[in-house]
Amino acid sequence: MTDVKAKPTGPIPPYFSALNGELAIGGKTASALVAEAGDTPLFVYSTDALTQRIAELRAAFPEQLSLHYAMKGNPYPPLLEWMRDRVDGFDVASGGELKLAMAAGVSPEKISFAGPGKRDRELEFAILHGVTLNCESEGEASRAFAIGDRLGVTPKLAIRVNPSFDLKGSGMKMGGGAKQFGVDAERVPDLIRAIIDAGAEWRGFHIYAGSQALDADAIIAMQAQTLAMAAELAEAAGVSPPHVNLGGGFGIPYFPGDKAVDLNAVGGALGQALSALPDILKDTHFCIELGRYLVGEAGVYLCRIIDRKVSHGETFLVTDGGLHHQLAASGNFGTVIRRNYPVAIANRFEAEPVEVQNVVGCLCTPLDLLSNQPLLPRAEVGDLVAIFCAGAYGASASPANFLGQGPALEMLF
Ligand SMILES: *Cc1c(COP(=O)(O)O)cnc(C)c1O
Repeated sequence: MTDVKAKPTGPIPPYFSALNGELAIGGKTASALVAEAGDTPLFVYSTDALTQRIAELRAAFPEQLSLHYAMKGNPYPPLLEWMRDRVDGFDVASGGELKLAMAAGVSPEKISFAGPGKRDRELEFAILHGVTLNCESEGEASRAFAIGDRLGVTPKLAIRVNPSFDLKGSGMKMGGGAKQFGVDAERVPDLIRAIIDAGAEWRGFHIYAGSQALDADAIIAMQAQTLAMAAELAEAAGVSPPHVNLGGGFGIPYFPGDKAVDLNAVGGALGQALSALPDILKDTHFCIELGRYLVGEAGVYLCRIIDRKVSHGETFLVTDGGLHHQLAASGNFGTVIRRNYPVAIANRFEAEPVEVQNVVGCLCTPLDLLSNQPLLPRAEVGDLVAIFCAGAYGASASPANFLGQGPALEMLF
């Protein structure tokens, strides 16, 4: 025991339980899952948790609202296949993601493709397959017209609008002010007319204002502003949008004090708004696109303790994992102040937390800190550490090749 003061950790998501004193994921113990996978480090994505999450969303939101998976947080192929028939559409942000979604059997008509800097060959592939392009600029729209002409295929073009508002409390703002995303709202009516005049199929609007918001009121306000802006731009162009993608931005609780989004409040408010639409949006179809919120809490990162050492009175649990798989948990992926993700000693899940122990990775850099001074059960070499909230922006958003380490194993269970 040391007298180091413990630092708080985030809340463990509600989808996990204990079995024989161990963390259980979908009814199997962490050690059984590691044995099945054959090694650590291992990401486990729980289909139980995903199923519950989707059911919560379907219950909270109006039936006519479509639910899309924005796959950039987790493009693991078995997860894409699992998701394929459980959501209504996929939003991809690169030609690579588009190919992964199609390889998972997602029908191209259900896919929309956003992202600045789409290359001609990516546009061409998308247009050929009937994917909706969320146009990020007038220049991109012109390239799509030319490619459509050359191929003899009508491009399906929605306009990504750079909104004049942002998502309050958002971890990452993606709208409001000068941005590389979307077309500034005041230029959108002209672009709608240009798309229609060029003979392309105008699919409507894509409006994405930010990410990782926990405050229901902020999300409700953003959705109301999004609807108002869609109506205003459609009025200015004199045409109704067939589709409006209202964005997403729902966050998950990672850190001490974070509270889950009040889904029923958001769903209720959106239900009301959709039942009182202005005439120009009466026949419009709406969707939301969620990445992190769908998959983030379903993932657990499991790594093994290789060494246990003491330095200047502090204990370090050195694991075979690290920031090369969990950059965000180390505090190096878009965070200003480093705070602790939820963490546990997976094979001592029900043991009393008695000792402050740092959890570090195996990389030769002081940045590789997975949990800073959490209070945990006393852990030993060979124990398994679980870092929660690992289902989004983990495996694919971390520098797996750093220090020659290579990727973690992944498993959908
Ligand atoms: C990143 C991104 C998303 C997903 O964001 P989450 O925070 O994971 O929900 C959705 N749409 C667009 C356009 C994005 O760039």
